[in-house]
Amino acid sequence: RNLKKYFPIKKSWLPSTVEHVRAVDGINFWMNKGETLGLVGESGCGKSTTGRTILKLLEPTDGEILFEGENIVNFNRKRLRSIHRQMQLIFQDPFASLNPRKTVGDTLDEVLFIHDMKDAAERSERIKELLRMVGLKKEHIHRYPHEFSGGQRQRIVIARALAVNPKLIICDEPVSALDVSIQAQVINLLIELRNKLGLTYLFISHDLRVVKHISDRVAVMYLGKIVEIAPSEELFKNPAHPYSKALLSVIPVLKPERNRKKLLLEGEVPSPVNPPAGCRFHTRCSFALKQCCEIEPQKKRIGGEHFVACHLY
Ligand code: SF4
Ligand code: MG
Repeated sequence: RNLKKYFPIKKSWLPSTVEHVRAVDGINFWMNKGETLGLVGESGCGKSTTGRTILKLLEPTDGEILFEGENIVNFNRKRLRSIHRQMQLIFQDPFASLNPRKTVGDTLDEVLFIHDMKDAAERSERIKELLRMVGLKKEHIHRYPHEFSGGQRQRIVIARALAVNPKLIICDEPVSALDVSIQAQVINLLIELRNKLGLTYLFISHDLRVVKHISDRVAVMYLGKIVEIAPSEELFKNPAHPYSKALLSVIPVLKPERNRKKLLLEGEVPSPVNPPAGCRFHTRCSFALKQCCEIEPQKKRIGGEHFVACHLY
């Protein structure tokens, strides 16, 4: 609720002024248990910061983060630890997130031990089970990260996230570093695990085809704001916000309709330090009205679960 994350930037030549990068600037959304919410937008729009702030890996500047009805923003360390068991993060580069000096078995064993599984035999059984769940073999236990392919490494990362029986997984570009042929396998694994274990995903990606495939609903972010949120099918069929329309119009399709126009996103993304007044998209919007430069559009429901923040509606 009204979540904000600002990063201060100090200027050495002007020590008295502190400016802020307003990476996430007052966003509101909810997630239903068992669903996947896609979060899309150009790089730098605040997607990853949103994910990390929800997990409290970054301290929110303002707002509330409600998990099963409880605001976790002011939780102490002990309560946060139990939250971190329930919320896990999977991110893009599995190489960076795995310790090269630890075997798969050691990596998983460590997580289980930290999270209170003190019986070695029990941990060993659980490790085998986790490997099976992500499609790896028990012979893989003694291997090191470099002995695996990129896709297999991401499976190890998924196994590690699942080790603590989380409820929510924040997937931040989980397949972006993988070959296209491998991406589908990992995405399908994530879908299978979600359905089997009743997981909930926040799926952050700039790749709209992947998001379309996995998401139940999709939120579109621009310069720290959510500009549109809708059920996936609805968003891809009837995007309402001019920014969503432009983003979606450039997805490659198999059989393009003859009249399909690409709406070009012209101009640079403005700086999140001094975002444009009014609608933040007005500097690039070909539909901008007079009030767009002054008045910030509020999110409105335009049917069902379809919300958009734009003066055209
Ligand atoms: Fe364009 Fe105005 Fe809508 Fe913003 S509010 S997207 S500038 S029409
Ligand atoms: Mg990112």
